Amino acid sequence: MGTTCRIEATAHYHDRDRAKRGLVAAEAALRRVEALMSTYLLDSELARLNAADAGKMISLSPQTLEVLRAARELADQTRGAFDATCRPVIELWKRAGRQNRLPEAEALAEARQASTWDQIELRGSGAVKRRASASVDLGGIAKGYGIDRAVAALRSAGCAGGLVDVGGDIRCFGKRPGGGYWTIGVRNPFRPEQTELVATLRIPAGAVCTSGNYFRFVEIGGSRYSHIIDPRTGKPADAAPSVTVVAPTATTADAWATALSVLGTDGLKLLPTGAGIEAMLIVGTPDRWRIHMTKGFRSLLAGEVKAPARPPAATEPSPAGTQ
Ligand code: AMP
Ligand code: MG
Repeated sequence: MGTTCRIEATAHYHDRDRAKRGLVAAEAALRRVEALMSTYLLDSELARLNAADAGKMISLSPQTLEVLRAARELADQTRGAFDATCRPVIELWKRAGRQNRLPEAEALAEARQASTWDQIELRGSGAVKRRASASVDLGGIAKGYGIDRAVAALRSAGCAGGLVDVGGDIRCFGKRPGGGYWTIGVRNPFRPEQTELVATLRIPAGAVCTSGNYFRFVEIGGSRYSHIIDPRTGKPADAAPSVTVVAPTATTADAWATALSVLGTDGLKLLPTGAGIEAMLIVGTPDRWRIHMTKGFRSLLAGEVKAPARPPAATEPSPAGTQ
């Protein structure tokens, strides 16, 4: 998935074999999701679907189908802001970055029309494309899904608790060594190379995913363009330098973090109510920034939010996970 991962497992000392088994199973679960859905691997199941001709039934694993269904549902919930079918547009911007030249408006419009959910039919055991150009990029959701599968593997191995961190997207559950809540830090999007934190969350269990334009972007003509595309315009999203979402599952948190990066604070009203989804957005620039958060997010904070562009405080607590 183009990033690093960290898996922790908790077990009683006399049960430590469970933790070992859990770690092995969790890593295998992550690698399986990567092999099926990665955009970095040319022979993934998803790559096969993307390369397929129109009208040809492509059989897919239940896991890939589950993520495709979740992605399609999220496209509805987010009014199209989360759209895994905008892969041709994503590829166009990647190419633009390599060539150091902004894409032409015409090419963007063409790429946008080349692939939509209307052109992909999901069936019981696979998918059929209505147009050969239709293609899917699960980069905004598959990492979250992999984290959920890894957590499920830790649980079924009998671990008392655990944490899975893939590139700063995290899910944790159960007991921590030493007890207490899991603490997860949110990095300063304006100084990502520093370990200083804008906020620290304390949660008993659940997922925390952050989308930002600070680690992954393309540079064209000296300007940085986000790797997240606004499907409505085909242009890189610039609504929020950093979005952190807390949700029961990492699949949900991952996709909503990407969606809110497109929608900005306007998107907060689209969050489903009663689903345990909370969000914090840092908007603006290092000189003029604002932090918006849902009430439920505020209640998970350990201490005050810190101004993002200030130098780090000397006595920063050391978090279990940072992003
Ligand atoms: P994340 O880092 O989780 O926000 O995911 C970003 C990745 O999701 C990008 O690198 C693309 O692969 C993909 N992506 C970009 N824009 C969108 C979008 N509007 N909807 C769904 N996926 C997207
Ligand atoms: Mg995401």
